[in-house]
Amino acid sequence: MKPRILVTDSLHRVFWEALGGCADIEQRRGLGKEELVKLVPGYDVLVVRSRTRVDRDVLAAGRQGRLRLVVRAGVGLDNIDLEAAKQYEIEVANTPTASSQSVAELAIGLMIAAARGIAWLNHRARQGAWSKERGLELYGKTLLVVGFGRIGRRVAMLAKALGLIVKAYDVIDITSAARNLGVEPVKDLCEALGEADLVSIHVPLTKHTYHLFSDKLLGCLKPGAILVNTSRGAVVDPEALLRALETGRVYAAGLDVLEHEPPITDAERKLLEHPRVVITPHIGASTEEAQYRVAVLAAAKIAEKLGLVCPETRSIVARVCKELDSMGLGC
Ligand code: NAD
Repeated sequence: MKPRILVTDSLHRVFWEALGGCADIEQRRGLGKEELVKLVPGYDVLVVRSRTRVDRDVLAAGRQGRLRLVVRAGVGLDNIDLEAAKQYEIEVANTPTASSQSVAELAIGLMIAAARGIAWLNHRARQGAWSKERGLELYGKTLLVVGFGRIGRRVAMLAKALGLIVKAYDVIDITSAARNLGVEPVKDLCEALGEADLVSIHVPLTKHTYHLFSDKLLGCLKPGAILVNTSRGAVVDPEALLRALETGRVYAAGLDVLEHEPPITDAERKLLEHPRVVITPHIGASTEEAQYRVAVLAAAKIAEKLGLVCPETRSIVARVCKELDSMGLGC
């Protein structure tokens, strides 16, 4: 009997090309939690992106049935209760390298947009205000990358090509990885923030990084710095960021993520309207290329974990892995 796969979010059609021959795939988007709890026991695999919350109740229901694997088609696992998954012996997999390049390119885009006021000036020009405002160049400035993982390293590579001096901070030892890329590893985050013109955040959201950028850490910034966050919204306290923008500690911010998406708090709404903040609605991985790779690698994980012999999967995966290898990311 073919394994049954439930997909609850949008996914590139190549997923069906890759796995359609060896699994029964059903897509049900926009399910409420109760519907998901009812449906999930009937499937071997649940595939989600960031919209679906896979909490303890969903996993407990899956455990009562045939669920063996949850695949997060993407990077962050913060929408999955990993502790419950472990307890119920349901495997969790993700596709960590598939979207790194897309997110890194967006981070660079947000840096330039924030430095040049692109979103605000575009808005004003459309309203008929054809007036100039002076921005800042990136060349020769110092960028601090916070979280020197897959995305942080891609950002560093792209930033160096723009003539930025790049430093990096991480909680793990990044000395050799940083030096290989011509990046200066730093040990003291507050001190490094005080020396950076731009800061780009690439840490996972955990209980240790929740509101990591609060009044205290934002207070370490060099006055007039540019802050970019494409990681997870809750890593930055929105009220503290507003205060930092108002005092000029932060000159401008580029945000792809907010603690609540779409924004619901006063502070988040004020950030959305702030002339020196450019916000995109969590589109870091939303490119044709990243979504193609995400779907292929999700199919690869399922084939591997379920031991499926699926020729279509093999050839499509080999192509994508070759591309990711050439980017130094791997599958
Ligand atoms: P990664 O695991 O490769 O790298 C994260 C790095 O952060 C690791 O090196 C880790 O040691 C470091 N880190 C953890 N805690 C830290 C701390 N307190 N201070 C400094 N460094 C710390 O992850 P990645 O693939 O590079 O993803 C980075 C972030 O980007 C994640 O939050 C992920 O959810 C997010 N992301 C966003 C989008 C988007 O659409 N905007 C898409 C993909 C990933």
